[in-house]
Amino acid sequence: MEVVETIEDVRRLVSQARLVGRGIGFVPTMGALHEGHYSLIDAARARGLFVVVSIFVNPTQFGPNEDYAAYPRTTESDLSGCRAHGSAVVFMPTAEVMYPPGRVTEVCVPSLSGALCGASRPGHFTGVCTVVSKLFNIVAPDAAFFGAKDYQQATIIRRMTADLNFPIEIVVCPTVREADGLAMSSRNRYLSAGERAQAVCLSEALALAGDLIRRSHPPAGQVKAAMREHIERRAPLGRVDYINIVDPDTLRDVETTDRAVQAALAVQFGRARLIDNARLEP
Ligand code: AMP
Repeated sequence: MEVVETIEDVRRLVSQARLVGRGIGFVPTMGALHEGHYSLIDAARARGLFVVVSIFVNPTQFGPNEDYAAYPRTTESDLSGCRAHGSAVVFMPTAEVMYPPGRVTEVCVPSLSGALCGASRPGHFTGVCTVVSKLFNIVAPDAAFFGAKDYQQATIIRRMTADLNFPIEIVVCPTVREADGLAMSSRNRYLSAGERAQAVCLSEALALAGDLIRRSHPPAGQVKAAMREHIERRAPLGRVDYINIVDPDTLRDVETTDRAVQAALAVQFGRARLIDNARLEP
């Protein structure tokens, strides 16, 4: 496995792989890797691809009061995990390599970026789209792998890829969870023992919503109220940021639940803002 910091080095390794007939799979990450990230590498490997993983804590997707400086950085264990899962290349650029002086271009997908997480994180998805576009141009993969845990992100990246004609297949892989249902996240390590015990309320609220919709598909407002009530009762250490039921494609709020909908929520526990989502069908 090669670990490189420059754009030239990644491009050289990717061209060499192409010359011997390999397809390229790309897994963009911010490091602090866990089984959720490794499942993306495994999915790329399962297709026989030459896997490039990027580890870059992207400053432009963090708001001024967010955890950029404190975001967990665990390079050694990340690299051994990437090696164990069969990555061929890990690209770890510095912020100067990704954002040299003078750069001004941004990529944004406004109509999908204002809802859900975008409402409390203005500018976040512009940061994501800009860095992912740059990484797509640097790595030039055949397929890029994203997690369903970040549903809005995956939806926006799919749209952006189609709209900008990137010749890249976007593969969205299922959310990997802890045994009790908590979605794995680099930010879970911020949780105290008490918060960790209550954090299961997100997946529980989604399961509850799924049951309600399967049983009687009530109006979305009722489902959201039941989810909120569950979280407030189960998790006094949590503070609900949003609970929404949206159209899976447009991410617009829906009123009724008599067809497939996406339920998504964010709950703040101390320093950790946790998100989760699920597709719910009547
Ligand atoms: P991050 O390092 O948090 O930016 O995440 C990098 C990629 O890993 C994104 O595509 C995430 O959606 C994905 N990911 C993060 N957590 C999980 C998880 N629990 N299951 C599946 N994919 C995940």
